[in-house]
Amino acid sequence: MIKGLYVHIPFCNSICGYCDFARSKYSSSLADKYLTHLEKELSEIKQDSFYTVYIGGGTPTSLNEKQLERLLKMLSGFRVEEEYTIEINPESFTSAKAQLIKKYGINRVSIGVQSFNEGLLLHMGRKHTNEDVMNTLKYLDEVQINNRSIDLIFGFKTQSLTNVLTDLQKAVRLDITHISIYDLEIYPKTLFGVQKYKKLDEETCFIMYQCIVEYLNQHGYKQYETSNFAIGKYQSEHNKLYWKYEDYKGVGLSVSSKIKNIRVDNTTNFVAYLNDRYVATTTRLSDEDVIFEAIMMNLRMNEGINIKEFDERFDCNILEKHHSAIEKNINRGLLEVKNGFLKTTNKGIFVLNDILVDFMI
Ligand code: SF4
Repeated sequence: MIKGLYVHIPFCNSICGYCDFARSKYSSSLADKYLTHLEKELSEIKQDSFYTVYIGGGTPTSLNEKQLERLLKMLSGFRVEEEYTIEINPESFTSAKAQLIKKYGINRVSIGVQSFNEGLLLHMGRKHTNEDVMNTLKYLDEVQINNRSIDLIFGFKTQSLTNVLTDLQKAVRLDITHISIYDLEIYPKTLFGVQKYKKLDEETCFIMYQCIVEYLNQHGYKQYETSNFAIGKYQSEHNKLYWKYEDYKGVGLSVSSKIKNIRVDNTTNFVAYLNDRYVATTTRLSDEDVIFEAIMMNLRMNEGINIKEFDERFDCNILEKHHSAIEKNINRGLLEVKNGFLKTTNKGIFVLNDILVDFMI
């Protein structure tokens, strides 16, 4: 059985300067057409339940109430065993949308806050205010959806360490169970990329990252993945499927699916998608690809790789197979082997891509 279902809604009310996702400005008529084709793609799924379902984007709440209900109705044919998440942007969330998501069984939300500094929000190209965030939380209170994550970002050139810590202070005072905080990345085709935006240098970002990890761990949000922190049991079950290299199905523009050793990438082209040409490429992964990808994803998690389970699952001996990469990065203080797990150190988790290069050779 495929464990996770991801559904992509590629519309936003405004476009952020750093955004590299497949999305376009919300248009009611385009969203109606998109939902029609999404429904067709969903109808091809052969199973009727998933462990987790995640509606992301884009901004799913940019859909109007009628469209949001149409989407939720389509998905109501699937039984969700554990966790049902929707991404929310504060400027497009209303009390009525809160009622709708509750009615259709959503039990977790991920809110795109990014910062509580309204000047910085404008710098990012975002349209919401702190008042919108507080209203969002109020609407969620009304329907008693209590499993709430917020997203934050650091690394903008106008951000100081004090700014970042102020964001964290404000975040932990809210009634939320989970925080995702991302190091800004500049991609060439984004507005910031075209403008040759200079983010904060790597050393400053690393110092910020260390302070973030320390602050959140001290305040009860335990780090369990590079960018993710949770109180108690409230880790993201859906995202953990990716990091544990489980199977998942993606539906919508630009999504990927991984089922056993087959990866399917959907088109990023709206016209193709609206003509039901969903799939752009299908790739059969070799055993080597599978092992590398599993290492790449597993090492994102603080617990790292359970060596015995990994060897059994992929019929290999990871310590032997990647002996030189592991030894080199242990010597650099970036990896460690402890209690049967291969994992990154506090320093290593921030420079995972550098470590992985050695596993490619
Ligand atoms: S809201 Fe999210 S998906 Fe939409 S433009 Fe901004 S970063 Fe991209």
